[in-house]
Amino acid sequence: MNLLELGWNADWQRGFNQLASPELAPARVISVLKDHYRLRMETGEVLAKLSGRYSFEVGTRSELPAVGDWVAVEDIGANRAIIHHVLPRRTKVSRKAAGRELEEQVIAANVDTVFIISALTHEFNVRRIERYLALVWDSGAQPVIVLNKADMATDIAATTAELEFVAPGVSVHVMSATEGFGLDSLQGYLTPGQTVAFVGSSGVGKSTILNRLLGQELQPTLPVREHDDRGRHTTTSRQLFALSNGGMVIDTPGMRELQLWEVDDGLASAFDDIEEMATGCRYRDCAHKSEPGCAVRGAVDSGLLAQARLENFFKLQAEQKFLDRKLDVQVDQSEKSRIKKLCNNAREASRRKRTTSM
Ligand code: GDP
Ligand code: ZN
Repeated sequence: MNLLELGWNADWQRGFNQLASPELAPARVISVLKDHYRLRMETGEVLAKLSGRYSFEVGTRSELPAVGDWVAVEDIGANRAIIHHVLPRRTKVSRKAAGRELEEQVIAANVDTVFIISALTHEFNVRRIERYLALVWDSGAQPVIVLNKADMATDIAATTAELEFVAPGVSVHVMSATEGFGLDSLQGYLTPGQTVAFVGSSGVGKSTILNRLLGQELQPTLPVREHDDRGRHTTTSRQLFALSNGGMVIDTPGMRELQLWEVDDGLASAFDDIEEMATGCRYRDCAHKSEPGCAVRGAVDSGLLAQARLENFFKLQAEQKFLDRKLDVQVDQSEKSRIKKLCNNAREASRRKRTTSM
């Protein structure tokens, strides 16, 4: 497999030339293991580790290589390599891990298209698709809506009409993975060098679609046994799949577990109709609750905007505020500890001065 098939192009080469020395080679991350990375290079697959220097310099979790990343490596032979740089990402699907610390974690990098997969059964939920859309817009990748299980659908036309409102301009593809129809229409996104990732609830048919695209049953694929640092064995399979026609699909547990509330700037693009209506509100900071002269409420009253869509917008807004607050608190705390450290240093310095002058 050559680099072009992996998605390499002149832009990547330019980025690489700026960052890396000529003795390093480009490689793409195809899976992330505990302490290792499985990479694909021009010469084949290798198992890699971060260089000591890179791991030392990594400031945040988001700087660690993710599936889909392009990295600059040193080939050390015996199918092993050392990662020295991660090339700046073109797109990234990330989540904000809200634990004690709010940290960005990149789930997949350099994805061109994200298939938002949904089933045309009672599972279908236009609000959920709306939220996935916000997440995809935020990543920089292009969203495409895939409606699977068409063989079980009752009214496809009504469903697609509903989507026209929430996802204007977004392509919608209707298919059945088990019956095998509609799959061809997805091939257009999987041309050589193109990377596609899947999102969607469990059970909508993601694995079945991937198997169909791969043209064979995906075994719990040839588990690769590897030694990690502590000499234990870990078993993994690939997370970036190369299709025979040259396209690639990223399917990882992380992508499957993406939390829906993890949206950021995507909020505005997913609800730009509401943002647009809001420009007609009397007050600039109108909350569209009960303010006089509110154009958004006006649109609801006249039937132009669904009440449910407005409520979904409020809900996402509230979640976003919660996340922002968490971030603020964190920034605040690190600022406090910085000041504390400065004070300690100053105290220490003056103490030392006193002892030396004595
Ligand atoms: P995943 O959790 O999204 O990976 O979903 P799976 O691919 O495991 O599919 C869940 C179930 O839905 C399986 O029993 C599939 O056989 C079934 N399924 C997948 N695609 C279709 C389809 O197009 N039509 C019907 N009727 N069933 C499907
Ligand atoms: Zn308003």
